[in-house]
This record gives sequence, C-alpha cells and structure tokens, in this order.
Amino acid sequence: MPETSAAKPSWAEPFKIKMVELLRMTTREERERVIVAAGYNTFLIRSRDVYIDLLTDSGTAAMSDRQWAGLMLGDEAYAGSENYYHLEAAVQKHYGYKFLLPTHQGRGAENILSQLLIKPGDYVPGNMYFTTTRLHQERAGGAFVDVIVDEAHDPASEHPFKGNVDIAKLDRLVQEVGAARVPYISLEGNVNMAGGQPFSMANLKELHAYCRRHGVLIMLDATRIIENAFFIKEREPGYGAKSVGQILREICDLTDGATISAKKDLLVNIGGFLACNDEDLFKRAQNLAVVYEGLHTYGGLAGRDMEAMALGIEEALMEEHQAARIGQVRYLGAKLEAAGVPIVKPIGSHGVFIDAAAFLPHLDRDDYPAQALAAAIYVDSGVRAMERGNVSAGRDPQTGRNRRPELELVRLTIPRRVYTQAHMDVVAESIAGLFARRDNIPGLRMVYEPEYLRFFQARFEPISP
Ligand SMILES: *Cc1c(COP(=O)(O)O)cnc(C)c1O
Repeated sequence: MPETSAAKPSWAEPFKIKMVELLRMTTREERERVIVAAGYNTFLIRSRDVYIDLLTDSGTAAMSDRQWAGLMLGDEAYAGSENYYHLEAAVQKHYGYKFLLPTHQGRGAENILSQLLIKPGDYVPGNMYFTTTRLHQERAGGAFVDVIVDEAHDPASEHPFKGNVDIAKLDRLVQEVGAARVPYISLEGNVNMAGGQPFSMANLKELHAYCRRHGVLIMLDATRIIENAFFIKEREPGYGAKSVGQILREICDLTDGATISAKKDLLVNIGGFLACNDEDLFKRAQNLAVVYEGLHTYGGLAGRDMEAMALGIEEALMEEHQAARIGQVRYLGAKLEAAGVPIVKPIGSHGVFIDAAAFLPHLDRDDYPAQALAAAIYVDSGVRAMERGNVSAGRDPQTGRNRRPELELVRLTIPRRVYTQAHMDVVAESIAGLFARRDNIPGLRMVYEPEYLRFFQARFEPISP
C-alpha cells in the first residue's frame, strides 16, 4: 500500500467521529408553522427545529479532542492568563504579526480598528463589503467604497481570483479624494459576500506596492485567510510546492495588521483578535479594549477559549484538513450543478451560493428572492440556509433605498468537521426538487425592519400564497 497522503484517494476526512449530537426530525407541517412564526427569517428559527444547519460556518465547527482537552487548561486569571501567551505565540509564529489583542469575536476587533484609524469624512476601500465590517466603518464616520474586480459581481464568471482588488478602481478613489482621506484598505481573504472567493498573491503584491507609494495601510480581514492560502497553493503558479502555512506568512507579511473572526478558519465556537505591527496602534487598541471587550489579555474571552483558538490555528493549517473541508463544499456544489441549479462559480471555500435571482426569475429584487428561497428550502427539508442579497445589503444611508446588490444569493454554509457526505446528499436532493417546482415559490414583503444589520432580525410575509 502506498502512503495514504501520497495516494490522495479523495477529499475524505482526516478524522474519525468520537461523539455525536442527536438531531430531532420534524414534519413538513411543523416546519410550515415554524417558518411563519419565524417571520420567514431563518435567523429566527430555533435550532431544535433544524435538521441540517447551513446557516453559517461561524462558530459552528466541531472542535477536536485536543481542543476539548485544551479547555481544561483554561487559566481563568483576570490578568496575564497563560492561555493568552499561548495564543500570542501561535499568532506570532503563524501569522507573523508582532502584537495581538484578543476580542470576543471579529466585530469587536473591527470596532476597535475602525475607531482608531477612521476619521469622519474618510473613505475605506474594500474588496466587497462585509456586513459588520462596513457598519463599523460607517459608525466611525467613514464611507465604504467597493474596489473589487468586476468579475466578483458576476455569479457566472469563472475567474480563479474573484477576490482581487481592482487597483484602477482604488487609484480612482485615491486620486479623487486624496490619499490622506484613505486611512487603509480593508482587504478580505476568501471574500464572503462574493461566494468565498480568494485574492491572488500577485494581486496582493501589486496592491502592497501601490499602498506603500501612497501611504495607505493594508488591513486584512483574515477571517478565512487560511482557506484563501489553500486556493493560492492550488491555483497560483509558483505556489504549489509551498505549504499553506508559508503562504499565510507571505500574505500577512504584505499587510500592516488584521482583524479576524476566529469562529471560521480557526475551528472554535467563539473568539477573534486584532493583530498589527505598529506599537502605537497596538497600545491604543489595548486601551480601547478595556472599554468594549475586557482587559487586553482576555478581550472578552475565557482563558479556555484562547487555548482552543491557539490549538485551532495549528489544526487549520493542516493541509489534509483544508482539502477535506473544501472538498466537501465542492462535493455539494457539484451535485447542485449537475441538477441544473444556478450557483456562484467557481465554488468557494465555505459554502455553496445559489444564484437566487436566476433560480426565481419571476421575482423582483424587492420581493427578496433569496430570502424567499431560503425559507422554501427550510420548509422542504429542515435545511437552514441564509440570505445574502438585498436584505443583507440594507439601505443606502444617503437615499434610504434598498441597495439592490447585483448578487442575490442563498448561502449554504458548511460548518467545519460537522456533517457527512450523506447530509450533503439530503441538501442537494431537496434543492434539486425545489428547482423543479420553482415557479410555485412566492416572493416576500418585509413587515418589520430593524435599524442595524436588518437581515438578522427582519420579519416577512409571503406576497401571495
Ligand atoms: C464573520 C465575519 C466577520 C465578523 O466576525 P464575527 O465573529 O461574526 O463578529 C467579519 N468578516 C468576515 C469576512 C466574516 O465572515
């Protein structure tokens, strides 16, 4: 027998299952009641009413036995917890940043970074927006400007690096408002809202040169940067022989700092951090942390959470883990494609994104086709997905109108190390069945709209049954 890793038989998981969590099965009648009670918003469904939960890959990973053992090593000292130093060492070693500030999750780090770097009237370019990131930029007085390549807005484009920054768009902004009004570019790895699409190292190098010339910082949203590194290894000439860990370092070395939601790449249920190389920025961030997060050596986390995160960094960098993780996502995507379901191409790292506008062409964007489709999927099979389209994009602060983004998507997000291939089959069969009956899916009207990040709590009713 050859060495298994050399033989690479398939994307099969590099783990076995030691403990299971039992699921409750529901009937269609129950789910019809549940979706009405939830206002047709999958965020408002109780977990006990869900069979396969593809709402998000955030905080939903299965931790390893080593991580669970790490929880027992939690040093719950208010100040100077041993686990903070483990985490600091892991971040310094693998990401390469000098300074680490833990936060309760990604948006805690975004809040602090935005408050420190953005002045009212500033512009913050980004390779597509992320909901919480943009909100914190706006609350700090900044205006977000999208500088991602055009291909990212086209679900059918097969561009291998749809997360790339369009340097000409960035330059247009810098020429127009002046570099002094652009404190940093917010650069996201495996761009979530574009369908989990990576940027290339070549693009980052070009961006780095541009930003150095103009005195603009590069702040990385490193939430899924390890998955981005895996795509670079797979797709970018010259990177096939490098390890994911080496590529991660090369990315971070070209940036000035990062915010991260550890609930994604890092295989933990809670946590995040801000990391940077500038000591003055770090000191000011540590100081703001005591206002919003907690003392700078725990940042809203228990010691045990930091230990699990430090171990999660090591596990996330194992290539067989990434191969299985991304292999499972591609398995689901390929099944849906074979059934003719329109999905965002190429298939990204953290989920399969259904093009709801193409799935439900009879609905206007203000009938919220992606929201309607996510609700229909839940009723059909108890699979919970989520909307990433007109509801998530919210209203333009200037005009007060729906932003009606080009991408109107339903995200089937795959938690890491949680579901089996058979679960993916259930999902694909349900959605393929709905696709055959798609004309019967009605649009929705929003009947309750909260002020911030409305997609989490908005409520809807069907337009006509
Ligand atoms: C989840 C996420 C965040 C926010 O992190 P939280 O931990 O949910 O606060 C920021 N950026 C991206 C790309 C994300 O996916």
